Amino acid sequence: MELRVLGCSGGIGEQLRTTSLLLNSEVLIDAGTGLGDLTLQEMSCIRHVFLTHSHLDHVAGLPLLIDSIFDRIKTPIVIHAQPPTLKAIQDHIFNNAIWPDFSVLPTRHQPVLCYDTLKPGESIQLGELSLTMVEVKHVVPAVGYIMQTANHTVAFTGDTSTNDTFWPVLNKLDRLDTLIVEAAFTNNDINLSRQAGHYCPSTLAADLAKLKHPAKIYLSHHKPGAETRILAECQQEITTHQVDSLHGGQIIQL
Ligand SMILES: [Zn+2]
Ligand SMILES: [Zn+2]
Repeated sequence: MELRVLGCSGGIGEQLRTTSLLLNSEVLIDAGTGLGDLTLQEMSCIRHVFLTHSHLDHVAGLPLLIDSIFDRIKTPIVIHAQPPTLKAIQDHIFNNAIWPDFSVLPTRHQPVLCYDTLKPGESIQLGELSLTMVEVKHVVPAVGYIMQTANHTVAFTGDTSTNDTFWPVLNKLDRLDTLIVEAAFTNNDINLSRQAGHYCPSTLAADLAKLKHPAKIYLSHHKPGAETRILAECQQEITTHQVDSLHGGQIIQL
């Protein structure tokens, strides 16, 4: 399994793209601006999109993706998310005002996208890959995902602040090889991070101390311009694990 980081920044700017991870060319985790770097051929290979939550930086590429490959695919792309996330994108994006309702286009019987409701704790098996949805804590309903093959387990938090839902689920796994966890703000912005439902280095360090697995840890969703400081503060605060920042374009072999 190969995980390709299309975007992992908290914002946009030169070389910066928002959250989107591509697994084995067919599965997308979040649909931020990073997916705009894919070729049309690569976009056409995507069969499943798993969303963590409804925020724009995680869904901005989705309506444009669907429109770009509209006439190139024969079966619908399946959008997997929990009910409030699906409702939000149906009500506020695919509402025929911001963008067409592609769940009934080109025809109601053969649409270009369809929706699949997934709830925290539920899993989906796609070939050798299993994906499990796990609840986290953000300012809107949000989840992370655990992605497992026979030889590797990787977990992704999506956007979250301090929580008691994600870490116990990880600790019950037989193994956790790689963890991608958000670290959005510097410690200086601890109050803002709490308001916005994100981690800063000190709150992340406190939660990582709950993790029993000696996993390789990658940090994502850094505020643009604060990347170096966030990483330095995380490396200072987090003594239980080795941490590095995730980068756009990075490929992790799983
Ligand atoms: Zn968010
Ligand atoms: Zn975000």
